Amino acid sequence: MLLFEKADDCGSKAGRQFYACAACRDRKQCAFFLWRDERLPAEKVRQWRQRAAGESRAASHRQRYDRARTILSGGGAQYCLTCTALVPASAAAEHRSHPTRPADTESARRPTQLLRPRACNKSSAQYLFSPDTVTVLDGVLGAAGVRRVLCCGTPRLHEHLLSAGQRDSLLLDLDERFEEFWPPETFSVYNMFNHHLISEEGHRAYREFVQRDGGRGLAVFVDPPFGARLEALALTLRTIADECGSQPAVFLVLPYFNEPDVLRNLPGLHMTDFRVEYDNHNKYTSAAGGRKFGSPVRLFASVAPQLVTLPEPTYRLCAPCGRWVHADNRHCDRCRSCTSKDGRPYRHCAPCGRCVKVTWQHCAACDRCALPDHPCAGQDRGVNRAVSAPTQPKRPAGHQPKKKPKRRRK
Ligand code: SAH
Ligand code: ZN
Ligand code: ZN
Ligand code: ZN
Ligand code: ZN
Repeated sequence: MLLFEKADDCGSKAGRQFYACAACRDRKQCAFFLWRDERLPAEKVRQWRQRAAGESRAASHRQRYDRARTILSGGGAQYCLTCTALVPASAAAEHRSHPTRPADTESARRPTQLLRPRACNKSSAQYLFSPDTVTVLDGVLGAAGVRRVLCCGTPRLHEHLLSAGQRDSLLLDLDERFEEFWPPETFSVYNMFNHHLISEEGHRAYREFVQRDGGRGLAVFVDPPFGARLEALALTLRTIADECGSQPAVFLVLPYFNEPDVLRNLPGLHMTDFRVEYDNHNKYTSAAGGRKFGSPVRLFASVAPQLVTLPEPTYRLCAPCGRWVHADNRHCDRCRSCTSKDGRPYRHCAPCGRCVKVTWQHCAACDRCALPDHPCAGQDRGVNRAVSAPTQPKRPAGHQPKKKPKRRRK
């Protein structure tokens, strides 16, 4: 559980604190709730113990993996999407009415192609990197001298790294379906918000992995679910650094409008201009139907900006900035940086002393730049129209960030 706080209506006083599940924000999925100043009645404790015992699986990870290997080597195996399990040819009849996909040892090396991405609930929806994005990320890891990657919530990156064979990888993810495809040496069921590895075997594999070579050459790569609590994630990353014995490179994937939140919680990271694209997200892609200015999701990195090498001609190295930026991101000599964050064109406003979106105009009455139809200080007040808030790309239902990103005024 994590300790949360219910903000009161005016948001001024500290609200009442409570414990709730660290992994699922959906109360339907995990209904645990306890006010901090209350005690759980003995009867409730008993019920939760019982439930936890009922959910502990009959087979260990190793047993599930070994069984899957046997099924796959037998030939004619299928992956049953209803039962979320590999099915041997001999049991095919029992799954006749279920959707299945053919599976063999080769396809089992890329489970994210075989499994249906999780979409059902807020906490574990899976958005998989596009092939181009995976290639760029692998290149960035290479340029940063990374030899081992702790993949937190990045199953597709993990399977790419293991197939490519240039870098070693350990996947830590909440999705237990991967147990059939990866042995305890390369995967463990894990909760990134309280750094909890579910099995002792997984914990051993993790320790060996992060401590190898005294922690040198290690990177932690995280693509958290949308709306993730960054305070909790920051604590997890600090714990990993403590346990590996050196400072691993950190890579984090989040939308550009989370930048202030990222910098507040993880001051060692900076936002790169790389637009992270997904296969199964119709807006977060540059393909037809995507956002006009490309995916709003960015890569954040702890390694020096000039090391985050991005492919030409979509990206270019900006010499004065010393970093790779999108080709559409123009350098402003006054701001001394490439100022676009969301991918739209910006222009410099002299009175404001900074770059603003080209759709904004300088308003003398308000003494700032705003959309032409902003509620203006020079006009009657009290009209409650939306002001200069950056237009937020729509997220799929159920993935609203908990807190709206703060509107930035100046
Ligand atoms: N883009 C990544 C997938 C990101 S989707 C890729 O292509 O590899 C987010 C992933 O985080 C999912 O695989 C999901 O199972 C996992 N996840 C969700 N909540 C988690 C948690 N609390 N701890 C660890 N992993 C989590
Ligand atoms: Zn089935
Ligand atoms: Zn620049
Ligand atoms: Zn400027
Ligand atoms: Zn202005």
